[in-house]
Amino acid sequence: MTLDPNALAEQLTRAAQTPVVENHPLSGECSFRLGGRARYFCTPETPEALRAVWLKARELALPVFILGGGSNVLFKDEGFAGVVIATKNLRQITATPAGAIRAYAGARNADMTALTLDRGLTGFEWASGLPGSVGGGVYMNARCYGHSFSDIVTSVRVFTLEGQWLTLSAPECRFAYKDSVFQHEHFIIVEVELALAPGEPAAIRTRSEHTLADRQKRGQFEFPSAGCVFKNAMAINQPAGKLIEDCGLKGLVKGGAQVYEKHANFIINSGTATTQDVTDLIGIIKTRVREKHHFELEEEIKIV
Ligand SMILES: Cc1cc2nc3c(=O)[nH]c(=O)nc-3n(C[C@H](O)[C@H](O)[C@H](O)COP(=O)(O)OP(=O)(O)OC[C@H]3O[C@@H](n4cnc5c(N)ncnc54)[C@H](O)[C@@H]3O)c2cc1C
Repeated sequence: MTLDPNALAEQLTRAAQTPVVENHPLSGECSFRLGGRARYFCTPETPEALRAVWLKARELALPVFILGGGSNVLFKDEGFAGVVIATKNLRQITATPAGAIRAYAGARNADMTALTLDRGLTGFEWASGLPGSVGGGVYMNARCYGHSFSDIVTSVRVFTLEGQWLTLSAPECRFAYKDSVFQHEHFIIVEVELALAPGEPAAIRTRSEHTLADRQKRGQFEFPSAGCVFKNAMAINQPAGKLIEDCGLKGLVKGGAQVYEKHANFIINSGTATTQDVTDLIGIIKTRVREKHHFELEEEIKIV
């Protein structure tokens, strides 16, 4: 017996308490602007609805992908034959005057920055201009300008594969360089507690603006991309971009994708790229770096 796809969408919609869209284009949901369609796509608005639609998808034996801001993912051209649950409508942030923040997973880093400027809280200036959501940042342990999420996370509220609620302390998050427990075990991040501190508003604004201006100067927002494609080569203490540049790969084109001239660890979509073009470039880069540097680059972006 095959299940009626309309009945599946209805069941998912009831669980998500918000309409589940069918055959939704994923290119509009990620910063690379690439990828096929999701069989089902939804944006729950409460933690309970997020958990309910997750459990319903599992009960229906559908593959599930949790999407934050979509700034570190590469969706395949053939799309995703399951349910993409996006956290973008779970955006609530609350803050105490002392700087204790509670942010839902889908809260955008940009909204966090705005709140810190508004309330005069220090400790998040490094993330000014960092695309994506707080949940995605914690999952990736995103880092830049010498800081990372692990510096400010105090606890993370999650549910497990079976839907059990848990609160993980910072050590239980097992943060490491661009890594966390969430990349190894099935936890869905729902809410994050962060510790910032009261600071001098003008100085906070200056530092935040400086960080954003630096990203703009480096041309990070000129083309669709997912930021750095590879993790840095920590074992040999080399930035991945330098290894790639040493192989003479800057500017290399495959279809509509290109190794960015301004930063060799970025692959950009010039407007006509397919995901296949990007994965072809990834393959070429890894082969050339292996041959020249005897080092195996590891992807930072998540290929879905
Ligand atoms: C122009 C540009 C510049 C960038 N610069 C940097 C940089 O300086 N430093 C850096 O570290 N990164 C950088 N990035 C990459 C990206 O912004 C970060 O990795 C960001 O933290 C990803 O967050 P997101 O919400 O977009 O996650 P997504 O891309 O949506 O997801 C990333 C991963 O997290 C998982 N995930 C997301 N939310 C949840 C959740 N609630 N529960 C469980 N899993 C979840 C997803 O399943 C996926 O596997 C850059 C990207 C761009 C486009």
